[in-house]
Amino acid sequence: MARLLLIEDDLTIRTPLVRALRERGHAVAAASTAMTGLRDALDDRPDLVVLDLGLPDLDGRELLRMLRAVSAVPVIVATARDDEREIVRVLDAGADDYVVKPFTAAQLDARVRAVLRRGPGGPAGADPTVVVGGLRIDPRARQVSLDGEPVELTPREFDLLRHLASRVGEVVTKRELLTEVWQIPYGGADKTVDVHLSWLRRKLGESAQQPRYLHTVRGVGVRLISPEVGG
Ligand code: CA
Repeated sequence: MARLLLIEDDLTIRTPLVRALRERGHAVAAASTAMTGLRDALDDRPDLVVLDLGLPDLDGRELLRMLRAVSAVPVIVATARDDEREIVRVLDAGADDYVVKPFTAAQLDARVRAVLRRGPGGPAGADPTVVVGGLRIDPRARQVSLDGEPVELTPREFDLLRHLASRVGEVVTKRELLTEVWQIPYGGADKTVDVHLSWLRRKLGESAQQPRYLHTVRGVGVRLISPEVGG
């Protein structure tokens, strides 16, 4: 069970969703405008925020930016359009995941659990830091450095890199990345992986044409490998 804040102005969506999420064991609070939602997010400190992008007083993306400036609370965006660029923009603005309307409470609940599972903390124990050549990936601090310099990644880029790092040297398929990193089934949306891979490459100072760490295996997937090994 989690404490959720649902920021959604449409009563026909909000009322049944609040009820369904409560039935699934969550404690759910709701706000109908961006400004009350922002206030509630800061005052009540929910475990996760579900944010509708189309709000009456302020664009949901604007609210996301304001929230991100002051809070690391996980955010799942609810968008009416299955628009790749829009989705990429909200993920880059700091959303942890998204659902496309119309979505079911079961879908949203699965996303909520997935986002909270990969959230900060995690099991204690041995240092899980992965070092590949000059690349250092610290899953606990969610920090990455390259040749000693910090690399700023979005949450999704980090998750993508972390997953590849968990399988160093192996080819990981796009299907697996979509399932494991995005928690969405394979089919048609494989550009999502390509788009995030290209951003990740840019931040690591490389390209698909001149790879150092991230090597595409055409038609199969991608693998993370040390430049000393991969050439
Ligand atoms: Ca709306």
